[in-house]
Amino acid sequence: MFKKILIANRGEIACRVIKTARKMGIATVAIYSDADRNALHVQMADEAVHIGPPPANQSYIVIDKVMDAVRQSGAEAVHPGYGFLSENSKFAQALEAEGVAFVGPPKRAIEAMGDKITSKKLAQEASVSTVPGYMGLIADADEAVKISNQIGYPVMIKASAGGGGKGMRIAWDDAEARQGFQSSKNEAASSFGDDRIFIEKFITQPRHIEIQVLADQHGNAVYLGERECSIQRRNQKVIEEAPSPFLDDVTRKAMGEQAVALAQAVGYTSAGTVEFIVDGGRNFYFLEMNTRLQVEHPVTELITGVDLVEQMIRVANGEKLTIAQKDVKLNGWAMESRLYAEDPYRGFLPSIGRLSRYRPPLEVATQSHVVRNDTGVYEGGEISMYYDPMIAKLCTWGPNRAEAIENMRVALDAFEVEGIGHNLPFLSAVMDHPRFVSGDITTAFIEEEYPDGFDGVELSEKQIRRVAAAAAAMYRVTEIRRTRVSGRMDNHERKVGSDWVVEAQGHHLPVTIEADKLGATVVFDDGGKHRVESKWVPGDSLAVLDVDATPLVMKVGKIPNGFRLRLRGADVRVYIRSPRQAELAALMPQKVAPDTSKLLLCPMPGLIVKVDVEIGQEVQEGQALCTVEAMKMENILRAERKSVVSKINAGPGDSLAVDEVIMEFE
Ligand code: ADP
Ligand code: ADP
Ligand code: MG
Repeated sequence: MFKKILIANRGEIACRVIKTARKMGIATVAIYSDADRNALHVQMADEAVHIGPPPANQSYIVIDKVMDAVRQSGAEAVHPGYGFLSENSKFAQALEAEGVAFVGPPKRAIEAMGDKITSKKLAQEASVSTVPGYMGLIADADEAVKISNQIGYPVMIKASAGGGGKGMRIAWDDAEARQGFQSSKNEAASSFGDDRIFIEKFITQPRHIEIQVLADQHGNAVYLGERECSIQRRNQKVIEEAPSPFLDDVTRKAMGEQAVALAQAVGYTSAGTVEFIVDGGRNFYFLEMNTRLQVEHPVTELITGVDLVEQMIRVANGEKLTIAQKDVKLNGWAMESRLYAEDPYRGFLPSIGRLSRYRPPLEVATQSHVVRNDTGVYEGGEISMYYDPMIAKLCTWGPNRAEAIENMRVALDAFEVEGIGHNLPFLSAVMDHPRFVSGDITTAFIEEEYPDGFDGVELSEKQIRRVAAAAAAMYRVTEIRRTRVSGRMDNHERKVGSDWVVEAQGHHLPVTIEADKLGATVVFDDGGKHRVESKWVPGDSLAVLDVDATPLVMKVGKIPNGFRLRLRGADVRVYIRSPRQAELAALMPQKVAPDTSKLLLCPMPGLIVKVDVEIGQEVQEGQALCTVEAMKMENILRAERKSVVSKINAGPGDSLAVDEVIMEFE
């Protein structure tokens, strides 16, 4: 076995690989840019080599620099993680030339599968079902329109070199095909340095279901079941699960066998993923093969018990697979939530900054319950603009889908992240969404269920009462503390009183609290009762309570006369007042939020690349106003309603902060 391996990556995946290497007794080498000097992967590795300035194209993806680090450290093998150089055949070649093992497939397989056009042709030759479309290169927007008409709308315009959901647009008509061709081409050029575009049929009611394959250098290959990754925004995965609630055994076997056939046709070795798009009739079509460890590989590990990183390292070391197809058993259900530094309330746009708080839930591993968190950050660390905005991958396992979901809900409620915008509330909302819970999902789930974006969650009446009971009991404890500190009365409990009015989400709920040594019974004026028990003390930012013997976990912030509570995707201000205070509060005028409806605010820190309108111009709802680039994504900002532009405050090349006013309307 190798004595030392270098991980040519950063973030959670570098940490993930280090964990398995350590378990196998292999020493690890991290590489890092200036921005990652204090990163977790650097702290975790046995040694670390600095490789340059923050931008990836001056550090992590510069083959010469990574090769220098390999030589300097004397590593015998390199694990590339995902992204960066993981699917770069020149890198695999450079390693081979120096006799260093690449923990991944042979360079021929990377080349064959790395390009979407080439791989589609190869898949067809291996009798794998592919999406109908045009696989030649497309010269300009006119040709794109012509081809789209031949295929028939809707179509998917894709960058041949694409990945990570970038360089991809759906078009429903000629105008969209024209615009989509141009945006895909620009995005492909800036993200991949390769602007070749192709077009295929857009599969309707699509579900993204992919097969994990594993092959050795001795001709053995197996498939380790599927993962469903249909919950996507901007064609990028957010929530994944294994198995898929949509597949039956026959379809699973057919997809698995085609995936293995494709792997064998290209002489594949190591772990790889064959992605399919599956329509409502369970017809499946090959999308692409990812010749690397996939982001969402943990869900497969959780249901198969196979450590994929360990298998990759063993295969790279020339060992034979010890797993035969008949040994692969799928056990229970696993969910993964990708925690992104992006603001769900602002169209999921990236957010950067310091993690003033980062407290993941405790990892658990029992017979009936698993919580696993793969992360590359720590409290106090910085989320920079240079890399992927993924902060962590929270995975849960349960004996069935319902329990895996329930475990995820509780784990998300207990996950504390502050200091940056993040998608925790959105992930919680999806876990509670009846359509998600039913398993009736497609890749359009987010667009269809959140057409106007995500603006938080309203708790149900039943949830409000549980939260109100908990908040009242917590408030009483806070008040007892407060009067004790002021130290004037000796019977604080009596002074604090037992009658309260709880205000939450527009409800006014009079309650009486009967406290005892173990907790409190909160009685509502309609006779309803809730028993609340917990170890929460004022000042704790997380409350883990038992309400009627079922867990209630909330993030807690103190506000005057109450708490800001966050749970299940909701962010509620709960006020607890004495009956007299409540009467007075009812007479207070409501605060009105400032009117920003006549302003176009910059939704994220970014660079204005284009302004499409002029002062005095009338714009229609949905019309493009300007393009802002952030984290290599071009985002077109559109008019929310018909109006006239009265002022433009920024132009191409301007760097704007979040909420800066780009233009104003009459
Ligand atoms: P998965 O299917 O595992 O989610 P993606 O295709 O979304 O894989 O990509 C995984 C990661 O690798 C993402 O963070 C993405 O940004 C990055 N990535 C994928 N392909 C490329 C590429 N060609 N160049 C740079 N980064 C890439
Ligand atoms: P990437 O390399 O960026 O991962 P993929 O080709 O795997 O690109 O596509 C990413 C996602 O886009 C898929 O998971 C799917 O949701 C959607 N998609 C891609 N091609 C099609 C298609 N022809 N029809 C419908 N959806 C598609
Ligand atoms: Mg893909």
